[in-house]
Amino acid sequence: MVAADLGISLPTVTQNLNYLRECGLIFNAGEFESTGGRKANMLSIVPEARLAVGMDVTQTHVSVVLTDLKLNILDSVKTHVLFRDADDYYEMLANHVRMILEKNEVDPEKFLGVGISLPAIVNERENTSSYSKVIDIPDDFYVQMQKKLPYPVRLFNDANAAGWTELQARGKLQPMVYLSLSNSVGGAVLMNRVYTGRNWRGGEFGHMTIVPNGKECYCGRRGCLNAYCSARVLSDYTDGDIRQFFYEMKATGNRGYRRAFEDYMQYLALAVNNLRMCFDCDVVLGGMVGACMEDYIEEFKKIVKKLTPFENSAEYVKICSFRTEPSAVGAALYFVDDFVRQM
Ligand SMILES: [Zn+2]
Repeated sequence: MVAADLGISLPTVTQNLNYLRECGLIFNAGEFESTGGRKANMLSIVPEARLAVGMDVTQTHVSVVLTDLKLNILDSVKTHVLFRDADDYYEMLANHVRMILEKNEVDPEKFLGVGISLPAIVNERENTSSYSKVIDIPDDFYVQMQKKLPYPVRLFNDANAAGWTELQARGKLQPMVYLSLSNSVGGAVLMNRVYTGRNWRGGEFGHMTIVPNGKECYCGRRGCLNAYCSARVLSDYTDGDIRQFFYEMKATGNRGYRRAFEDYMQYLALAVNNLRMCFDCDVVLGGMVGACMEDYIEEFKKIVKKLTPFENSAEYVKICSFRTEPSAVGAALYFVDDFVRQM
């Protein structure tokens, strides 16, 4: 099957697979059901053959994850610390990487690199960031981090990284739009890969205008989706803790919270319907709010359905399935993808 898929001869395939097995990169994971002839071997990648670190840097915290080739999170650390453009802050970031590698006794030979996700427009080819209005990322951020870390370092947009993780987690590479509902609203367009656009601004859904002359957005304009659907719209009621908001709304039946959430869903439905009209694919609700919407998804679909002209259901609206540090994992995923491709 491998030979047919790759269009190379069977002896060459066998030789290459033996080499990968000797290198400890693949193993026999069993046999496929027989379709008449001899049962075919099921080969699988050795998850811990290579490891990568992903780091999500936000205004208020830093998350670091250590992942293997199957995207299992082997260890993670989350620290609440305000972003500062200062050398000791960058040193702290580098220390987090060193500590997680030391604690897990990661063999340097097996370590692929460090991916960093940022709430900014990121040119992934040049490792530069721009329009980082959420946090004040300096132009030389990449240079500073690369100086402190003796491993390959790459930068990514946080929502693109999270969307990429979600696409892999869903296990089917069908087109998908990921809407990241965190302290700022972002998103990703996934058509086999992340569509970044001509200027690395693809999927910046947070600045779609949904209310003419509406509430002010941090970008300086008015009526952006971000002003209506960032997690803060809800978590401001509970001191910045979005899980607490959902917990209290359910546990106490707080009417004020419930009204705020109903308003939130109305605006979110406008955005979701617009995305469906643009892309005609699943729209996945992710980020901090998406991860909390399990109990309300059917109610939300009913709101969306009323807006949708071509169909009688809104089953295309999905809740994200990967809810643990998707941006950090997505940043590490770059190295995993790269390695598996080279294999
Ligand atoms: Zn805006």
